[in-house]
Amino acid sequence: MLNKLQQRLQQRQAQDLIRQRITLESPQSTSIKVEGKSFVNFSSNDYLGLANHPKMIEALKSSANKHGVGSGASHLVIGHSHQHHLLEEEIARFLGIEKAVLFSTGFMANLGVLTSLFDKKDLIVQDKLNHASLIDGGLASEAKNIRYAHADMSSLERQLQQSVETKLIVTDGVFSMDGDIAPIDELLSLKSRFKTSLMIDDAHGFGVLGEQGKGTLEHYGKSQSDAEIYMATLGKAIGGFGAFVAGSKTLIDSLIQFARSYIYTTAMPAPIAAANRTGLELLQTEPERRVNLQKNIRYFRALAFENDLPLMESETAIQPLLLKRNDKAIRVSQELKDNGILVMAIRPPTVPQNTARLRITLTAEHSKAQLEQLVEQLTKSIKVV
Ligand SMILES: *Cc1c(COP(=O)(O)O)cnc(C)c1O
Repeated sequence: MLNKLQQRLQQRQAQDLIRQRITLESPQSTSIKVEGKSFVNFSSNDYLGLANHPKMIEALKSSANKHGVGSGASHLVIGHSHQHHLLEEEIARFLGIEKAVLFSTGFMANLGVLTSLFDKKDLIVQDKLNHASLIDGGLASEAKNIRYAHADMSSLERQLQQSVETKLIVTDGVFSMDGDIAPIDELLSLKSRFKTSLMIDDAHGFGVLGEQGKGTLEHYGKSQSDAEIYMATLGKAIGGFGAFVAGSKTLIDSLIQFARSYIYTTAMPAPIAAANRTGLELLQTEPERRVNLQKNIRYFRALAFENDLPLMESETAIQPLLLKRNDKAIRVSQELKDNGILVMAIRPPTVPQNTARLRITLTAEHSKAQLEQLVEQLTKSIKVV
């Protein structure tokens, strides 16, 4: 077995596909420390800059003083604390949805939804560029799982022709490697025409999009209940950790009863739930963070256009720069790193062949000067390599 693994690793290396971990020595921020050196960070999903917010830290500490660290058991045994309970209620109230349930991670939430609610008579149709956890959830589901071409409504419509009683359309709200937003209007009209349900994974939309930060549906002026299944994470804009699914009482009660990735795992620690609660509150009390992020997105795009950088079409915090070749993406990323800027190169199989890119993520906390430094250095680096 190990011989085979060795070969696979060597093959990855030869294709410029080996991934390396960077060890962070500072809190998550726009300016971080790695290997003793300072870098401007354009790789974090901490979109609102809450991960290191003093109130988040205080919430975690004071909850740990009261509740300890480990949750000690799964939610259905004795791991479900008052903090979890309050967080679930607050999420549901904020979104105006009947009920919400926490999951330890977004990956587990998606796996839980797709494997526990559908059986082999059912059909799951999902966008080809959906997050890996949805793709894996679909594969692990008993239901028939098919994919439609990215954001291609005629491709989706063809798939929906099948005469199956229970059909679910699944889409990311904001696509994690492209930054584009799902075509919600079109999805909703196909949903009603074909009498399907809709699931939105809003990991990158929740907290970021919409006037109040309720995400992709609010961004399009839709009602939150237009999607039967709304999932988002707490480790991105909220600055904490974990995830939730929100929907009708029937949906959430079913997940609590049947989702194995909910039932057979230790609950998130109570102090994390407490910090998540504070993140959710900051989302509402510090709306200027969302405004700043939008300003930064506009400013960055304007600068990038002036410098003819190959930006992809995106109005969100995820601003990919398409370089196509794996080696080029790595070399530009390295060149940036040599100049004090961290941007990750994203390569297959995370993205399709020949679409290697730099995934630039902007946050509310980036300064104008940092954005200018990024564009200046990108313009230089792309010419050098
Ligand atoms: C990050 C992410 C997830 C997984 O969430 P975790 O809490 O990190 O496991 C799921 N879906 C999308 C679209 C994501 O970006």
